[in-house]
Amino acid sequence: MDECREPVTKVFGSNVFNDSVMRERLPKDVYKSLKKTIQGDEPLDPALANMIANAMKDWAIEKGATHFCHWFQPMTGLTAEKHDSFISPTPDGRTMMEFSGKELYQGEPDASSFPSGGLRATFEARGYTAWDCTSPVFIKEDGKNITLYIPSAFCSYTGLALDKKTPLLRSMDALDKQAIRVLRALGNKTSQHITATLGPEQEYFLVDRSFYEKRLDLILTGRTLFGAASPRGQEMDDHYFGTLHERAASFMHEVNVELWKLGVSAKTQHNEVAPAQYELAPVFATVNVATDHNQLTMETLQKVANRHGFVCLLHEKPFAGINGSGKHNNWSMVTDDGTNLLDPGKTPHDNMVFLVMLGAIVRAVDKYAKLLRASVANTGNEHRLGANEAPPAIVSIFLGDQLTDIFNQLANGGVTSSKQGGELKLGVSTLPPLPKDCTDRNRTSPFAFTGNRFEFRMVGSTQSTAGPTFVLNTIVAEILAEIADKLEKAEDVKAVAQEILRKIATEHSRIIFNGDNYTDQWVAEAEKRQLPNIRSTVGSLTTIMDEENVGVFEKQKVLSKAELQARTEILLEAYSMQINIEAMTMLSIAKRQILPAVVKYSELLGNAVGAVKNAGVDSEVQVGMLEKVCSLMKSLQNGVDSLEKVVTSTDGTEDVVAQAEDYRDNVIPAMQAVRRASDGLETIVDADIWPLPTYAEMLFLK
Ligand code: ADP
Ligand code: MG
Repeated sequence: MDECREPVTKVFGSNVFNDSVMRERLPKDVYKSLKKTIQGDEPLDPALANMIANAMKDWAIEKGATHFCHWFQPMTGLTAEKHDSFISPTPDGRTMMEFSGKELYQGEPDASSFPSGGLRATFEARGYTAWDCTSPVFIKEDGKNITLYIPSAFCSYTGLALDKKTPLLRSMDALDKQAIRVLRALGNKTSQHITATLGPEQEYFLVDRSFYEKRLDLILTGRTLFGAASPRGQEMDDHYFGTLHERAASFMHEVNVELWKLGVSAKTQHNEVAPAQYELAPVFATVNVATDHNQLTMETLQKVANRHGFVCLLHEKPFAGINGSGKHNNWSMVTDDGTNLLDPGKTPHDNMVFLVMLGAIVRAVDKYAKLLRASVANTGNEHRLGANEAPPAIVSIFLGDQLTDIFNQLANGGVTSSKQGGELKLGVSTLPPLPKDCTDRNRTSPFAFTGNRFEFRMVGSTQSTAGPTFVLNTIVAEILAEIADKLEKAEDVKAVAQEILRKIATEHSRIIFNGDNYTDQWVAEAEKRQLPNIRSTVGSLTTIMDEENVGVFEKQKVLSKAELQARTEILLEAYSMQINIEAMTMLSIAKRQILPAVVKYSELLGNAVGAVKNAGVDSEVQVGMLEKVCSLMKSLQNGVDSLEKVVTSTDGTEDVVAQAEDYRDNVIPAMQAVRRASDGLETIVDADIWPLPTYAEMLFLK
């Protein structure tokens, strides 16, 4: 990789058909027209598509590309692509390289193998992909293959959204529309558009590939289904922000270069809390581009890890008993003339726009807490929410001292002052005084105000950021619409705004919690406040179709009832399927690796007992060991038998909810019993015989 040492300014965006390339390669009027479409002001003039496609093709071919593809995000949460080459054979046996406007803006992949949740009957296999010009086209190099990637939306023959991008784009429109209404009502005459912004921090683990290859559970399910605790875990607090070891640092360097080429602004990297855990954060972008970039980031982390003899684990909980991985979705709203609507300024108490936006978010999060919770419900996150260090399943908001004080003033009818941060003096004359933030951080809050944005921390590390983000956009748009309705009719706008804020501050104070979210006291307190605490994925997913949720999606035109129903079914099915795979993998490992190893060990002990006895020596120790091994082996065998029984009886029901509940209530406990017996055995069986790499090896060997 020679590019590694090239100046970053040269590498950054070198594989992106970005604004500067467009300006350089497109005729001026075409460029202007496309820009207008990108800004959301005018639909694309189809007459220009051929010219744009041609410019893209020439640029791509100069970079060595032979193929193009529509790159889309089906409801699996992953990305999909089908490559077509540019070749167009001529009668004389040669070929031209062609790429038409139609090929750029529309694709027709067979949709029948993607989950549709019943939106697409099998006989209507046709699906369409449509170019999303708001996310730049780029070139990806995979081995020797170089391809032009066209970010696209994906829908059925009947126009229903079959992907994660379409609702995200719709939710951006909804938020734009409603936020502008509020701004206008509050006297802003200049801003034309509001865009939601997103900076997703991505957590992940790196394990040595040689260990991974010996663990069918990691290969097939992304997490360890067996594994006794390592004698050392994360209790020393020495990994977070610790020195990067050389191998990880080289890996990160290469990840950065790959991402920079793709225009992904990888910015921050550090060791995370758990051993072998790391984080990467980009500079924020529009939620749409940031979501595309996060997909590329997850893909790149995995790809580059392989080159360094690592495997990158993106699972929410790869190892029991130590921290899991999340994605911290930093979210805000910015105007096209550059104002961050969540920037409180120095005196937030007299920043009405900020206060109204804050109020809208607080009301949205409280009113639709279950929907937000559901937006992060998946199989992996079930192990994480409420476990080590993760935010609990209870949605609450951290506002910090300054804003909580303002919030309380609002509830009392008027707001007149803002607490200030002041200066920190360290008592060392050579160290500079530090300006103190008005608000401390709170690492335990699931939804925290962090100075000029909110950070939604419940999102799972494998998840597409699209889902949680379009939910957030939609519910905030809904409340802004409510507020705009009132402000637009008001004679005294300021008085009405104040009354709206007073009401919000009074009605929704229960959602504000600045304390430690990881304590049992909070769980009890939240119950008193009647905040929902939905711990299971199934329990959460089944709230999606509640009337008010269907209503908000339909009203904001983000998802129709049928589209929402389809998504719910897909998520429930995915839950059952994932646990089924885990259970089958567990059975395979238990029967074909662990039990045979333990049998071998018991034979060894049995022989030892005989030998020691023959020698006329007391064999009490050997007998004791053998008894212990045999007793745990019996528990393991019983566990395997029970698991096998429940897995087979779970199959067959047509009802997706009943099936998912069956997996949750019967299969998961049976899996836990198998694991308990096996983990017990791992602590006493000869290390040379134990067939799986241990937690200590996987987490600590660098
Ligand atoms: P933390 O201290 O929370 O770990 P990081 O630096 O790791 O912070 O990540 C913070 C993320 O928040 C970055 O991706 C950053 O670009 C993003 N961010 C900052 N401002 C905004 C904003 N206005 N909108 C969205 N994201 C933002
Ligand atoms: Mg961070």
